[in-house]
Amino acid sequence: MNPSKEYEVIVIGGGPAGSTTALYLAKRGLSVLVVDGRDPIGTPLQCGELVPSNDEMKRLCPDVPDVDDLFQTPEHAVCRIVPEMHLVTPSGKRLKYNFEGLVLDRVAHDEALVDRAKRAGAEYLVGTRVNKVEENTVTLKDGREFQASVVVGAGGHQDIIRRDLWTENSVNIPVKFEIKDGVHTEALELHFGSVAPGGYAWVFPKDGCSNIGLGIQSKYAKGASLNSYAKKFIGSYSGETRFRGNGALPMSGTISSFTKENYVLVGDAAGMVLPSNGAGITIAMIGGRIAANSIADHIEHGLPLKTYEAEWNRQMGAVMARSKRAFGLGSILFRLPDWIVDLVFNPLTKPFIWRAVTCRPLFSLRG
Ligand SMILES: Cc1cc2nc3c(=O)[nH]c(=O)nc-3n(C[C@H](O)[C@H](O)[C@H](O)COP(=O)(O)OP(=O)(O)OC[C@H]3O[C@@H](n4cnc5c(N)ncnc54)[C@H](O)[C@@H]3O)c2cc1C
Repeated sequence: MNPSKEYEVIVIGGGPAGSTTALYLAKRGLSVLVVDGRDPIGTPLQCGELVPSNDEMKRLCPDVPDVDDLFQTPEHAVCRIVPEMHLVTPSGKRLKYNFEGLVLDRVAHDEALVDRAKRAGAEYLVGTRVNKVEENTVTLKDGREFQASVVVGAGGHQDIIRRDLWTENSVNIPVKFEIKDGVHTEALELHFGSVAPGGYAWVFPKDGCSNIGLGIQSKYAKGASLNSYAKKFIGSYSGETRFRGNGALPMSGTISSFTKENYVLVGDAAGMVLPSNGAGITIAMIGGRIAANSIADHIEHGLPLKTYEAEWNRQMGAVMARSKRAFGLGSILFRLPDWIVDLVFNPLTKPFIWRAVTCRPLFSLRG
């Protein structure tokens, strides 16, 4: 790679959002450089590793076109396909739903996405962070400078462009998880109530181990730390811990604008996580494809970058709005005493709770 080379687009961050953006930009024939501080990208793991299957994605996000083109998860990146999800109340009562989820090897998933983008023609620079972005110049920590017509902030919830150029705040929920040896469940489990105030805990089965974790809203935690909740919930499962990780998830939904001058935000940097279920990987990829096509239309045909927001709203606006509403309701419910949570989760409310979790209208004649 020639350091003095100018690119049409530079993408900061090569996670699901950045690599998908790079993939579709490269497919449109644009020159694109992805810079990521990690090497390899995707490590260390920070994830519950659950994504819906492509069929579920078609149901969850009905206005997103060409789902099978976007999500091409290779077999080696799938640890297990699980056909059922259980919502578990504080007393252990289970509401059971048919839901096909892929429990990933997230590191392999992200590596495969990077490979796809590279094969399409995107260039990558890894193991080096972006320190500064000014006008069209991106400066790395080691002092190297690169130029681009458009710069994409795909650096996750602490993205440098979002931090420096946007004033809007997101609610970031701290999350902790462990990979534990053993068989703990056959279903995808989400646990609600005082185990995870204002959030939820999860147990996702992998092959011979489980990804077990939780996220809380500190303001509802009565002064107790995430660590103490994690110790109690994760510690209640037997087995050697293979891996411990943590991170944060933006849970207040998308911010009001994703573009500013020649800058574009995508993925967690733009708040693209569905707050009612924590889905961020697939949603970042949806955002990345839309961003790439709008950037290509801007560079090739002079269309405004704002077409990105319009197209996002067409594909994902309603789903995100319903997810935000459901999260708001959940935040009220899940800080009430456990006996009330237990009462609310019952056979009569079962379909409505599922509609809220899966971002569908609470009442619909279409099922
Ligand atoms: C503990 C945890 C569990 C989760 N579980 C799930 C789950 O089960 N299912 C799900 O769908 N989602 C889950 N999520 C959310 C999901 O991981 C994110 O929504 C998703 O990774 C967003 O992708 P992204 O590309 O926007 O950001 P990221 O995946 O965070 O990628 C950002 C990249 O940018 C790089 N970067 C940042 N700043 C710079 C810089 N200045 N210079 C160079 N590089 C930079 C980083 O190194 C990183 O590789 C979870 C998140 C956490 C924290």
